[in-house]
Amino acid sequence: MLKGKVAVVTGGTRGIGFEIVRKYLQNGAKVVLFGSRQESVDTALDKLKAENAAWEVEGKFPKLTDAVEVEKAILDVKEKFGRIDILVNNAGISQNTKLYDYTPEEFDKVIDLNVKAIFYAILPAAKIMKEQGGGCIINTSSMVSISGQPAGVGYPASKFAVNGMTISLARELGPDHIRVNAVAPGVTKTDMVASLPEQVVQAISAKIPMGRPGEPEEVASAFLYLASDLASYVTGEILSVDGACRS
Ligand code: NAD
Repeated sequence: MLKGKVAVVTGGTRGIGFEIVRKYLQNGAKVVLFGSRQESVDTALDKLKAENAAWEVEGKFPKLTDAVEVEKAILDVKEKFGRIDILVNNAGISQNTKLYDYTPEEFDKVIDLNVKAIFYAILPAAKIMKEQGGGCIINTSSMVSISGQPAGVGYPASKFAVNGMTISLARELGPDHIRVNAVAPGVTKTDMVASLPEQVVQAISAKIPMGRPGEPEEVASAFLYLASDLASYVTGEILSVDGACRS
């Protein structure tokens, strides 16, 4: 479904991002995954190469909250592979702090990675996509961008912002043949969920009409669809993959 395409996936070393990378590789794309550390990038690459040594996959670890570093990493991908067809902005951190315990620094940390870093990656990537005649950007949102959540207000605030960027940029970049979409996962079995208090996970899971959390691979399938030509007229969409637990 992605034969010959070049993709960049941030937060590609584990969880949902790792499954997106795998799915893109299985479908013929060349992928550069961005992680936060050399060590986690190397571990992810080793795992992928062990699965299929022929997969064309590389890794980088720019500081995503540094616009200059991100621009350089994106330009390096373009120089090496000649183009960037797909940018997946998936790296993100979640938070569950109660308002009265919140600090401005904690709020900034979430917004810096979940919102500003996406903007930093889109800036150079969109210019490359425009020059080459098109491309697609997919952002990882969350079900909390629809429902909010009862603590950790920075996280839903960041994901509402992701939706805002997605819908706005779909309108702005449509004339340049750049599609911009987001996937809004529900409770998905990754480290991010494992780090939440058990009672929070149980309370959320009990409200899922499908009766279970999602698997990272199920979420990654939505990223495959949106990156593929099957979604050639889909843009500005926030696609929920949450077992209907968003409300
Ligand atoms: P995860 O913690 O397993 O993975 C997060 C990824 O982001 C990792 O690859 C990590 O390296 C990267 N990352 C974290 N901090 C970083 C930093 N400072 N710089 C660079 N990279 C950094 O989490 P996940 O569940 O796979 O989350 C992926 C995305 O899915 C996030 O945007 C998250 O908000 C979203 N999401 C997850 C769930 C869920 O239930 N797991 C639900 C809704 C949305």
